[in-house]
Amino acid sequence: MPNYYALIPAAGYGARMGNQLPKQYLTLAGHPMIYHATRTFCESPQIKHVFIVLSPQDPEWKKYDWDVFSDKLSVFYCGGETRAESVFNGLNTAARHFAIESPDWILVHDAARPLLTQHQLSQLIDELADDAIGGLLAVPVADTLKRSGADTRVLQTESREHLWQAQTPQMFRYSMLLEALNNVPELSITDDASAIEAMGHHPRLVHNKSENFKITYPQDLALAELIMQQRNQQ
Ligand code: C5P
Repeated sequence: MPNYYALIPAAGYGARMGNQLPKQYLTLAGHPMIYHATRTFCESPQIKHVFIVLSPQDPEWKKYDWDVFSDKLSVFYCGGETRAESVFNGLNTAARHFAIESPDWILVHDAARPLLTQHQLSQLIDELADDAIGGLLAVPVADTLKRSGADTRVLQTESREHLWQAQTPQMFRYSMLLEALNNVPELSITDDASAIEAMGHHPRLVHNKSENFKITYPQDLALAELIMQQRNQQ
């Protein structure tokens, strides 16, 4: 049976948050944002081990106490210039420390998606366990989509039929993901599925809730705080 590993790239600076502190360390429900996704993966009985990929210059991680997760968590200071480079470096470093086999699954998850639930995680794993390629959590696009010119005036309305917003985790076999990321020119893609698609494969979309959104702008953090408060009251 293949093993399941989680890899959380967290080497970005989160420039769109307009904050000095990288967004994965902004406080959410009393913890740095990255704590929440880390906890979800570490507490999942389906996940064997969790790899965190930080920037080589990261000064923040060590300021917190991560002992509660220590038997299941490894931290690598090998992040790159892009998300894809961070994932690629993380996979290579992980393979030097763990006996990861080709068919083992890697679940890549953004540190900036703290609202992933155990239920959503196990749904992804269970739906893709027998899949030849793998896939990702995603949400069908709900809004009407406009394409603009550089002047922010509408050029045309795009059909939203069959359009999805990609989320994470994105789950692929170790060797296929490594090969895909190795082949992507300049590692400029913004998710892992794009690298798999560039090899001619068609990842599966697993229907999820929009609640697993990525924190990008300051108002996203306030909304995440509210959702967490609500969950804690249930
Ligand atoms: O910037 P964005 O929100 O797209 O980043 C998504 C995830 O990728 C975040 O967890 C971020 O820390 C990570 N990332 C990374 N290395 C980079 C850029 C982004 O690990 N060079």
